[in-house]
Amino acid sequence: MGMGKGIALIANMAAEAAAETLWPTRCAICDAPGVVLCERCRRNLPFLDWWRACRRCGSPYGLVQCDLCNPVSLSRMGVKQLPFASCASAVLFTGDTGQLVRVFKDQGEQRLAPEMARLMIRVVPPDWQIDALTFVPATLVAFRNRGYDHAELLAQSLSGLLGLPCERTLQRPRSRDQRGLSAAGRIRNLSGSFALRQGTLAHGRYLLVDDVFTTGATLCAASQALLASGATEVRCLTFARV
Ligand SMILES: [Zn+2]
Ligand SMILES: [Zn+2]
Repeated sequence: MGMGKGIALIANMAAEAAAETLWPTRCAICDAPGVVLCERCRRNLPFLDWWRACRRCGSPYGLVQCDLCNPVSLSRMGVKQLPFASCASAVLFTGDTGQLVRVFKDQGEQRLAPEMARLMIRVVPPDWQIDALTFVPATLVAFRNRGYDHAELLAQSLSGLLGLPCERTLQRPRSRDQRGLSAAGRIRNLSGSFALRQGTLAHGRYLLVDDVFTTGATLCAASQALLASGATEVRCLTFARV
């Protein structure tokens, strides 16, 4: 090791130690020190029960009668049928998981991405045929505020775990943050808001990744954009499901 490299390494370690003193690593849910998600909180997460969920859209209690896969709900979303082939989610959206997502997105705890990805990968059914991963891109405003795209971080972690490429396919030039909008407002906000990034080509079967499935409007719009641009099939995977 050269002198310069050694000094850089020590400076780096000092910076990390200072950061750890100023902002000690804490569990996103219970605040226990040491890890971003402690073992107890991980075990107690409200895991979605796949055996009771809708096989098509992943609605938590929709196996027999789905609250989304029916003509009324679909027409409210402005679609005749879901554009994606299926959707799965790791956990229910509760106070705890909502807080975890907020710490990940709004407090910049990027180290939660691999933790969340490990939970998400467990719910990908073995019969899903996937060629590549892609993600629902953050709004421009959110990206500027955070400095990173949270769904891209999840997709990249998943890409490593699955051994499949992660492609940056979509962009959303004009839409605003979806939070705080009603279902109808979300759909209005989203109509036409996804487009393929310039110079990109969609092809094959995608696993489309997002953090939270709220009304399904975002995943529908993003799936439609992918399918309209050459993708042959889209399956969706989110961390949490409302
Ligand atoms: Zn904890
Ligand atoms: Zn369903």
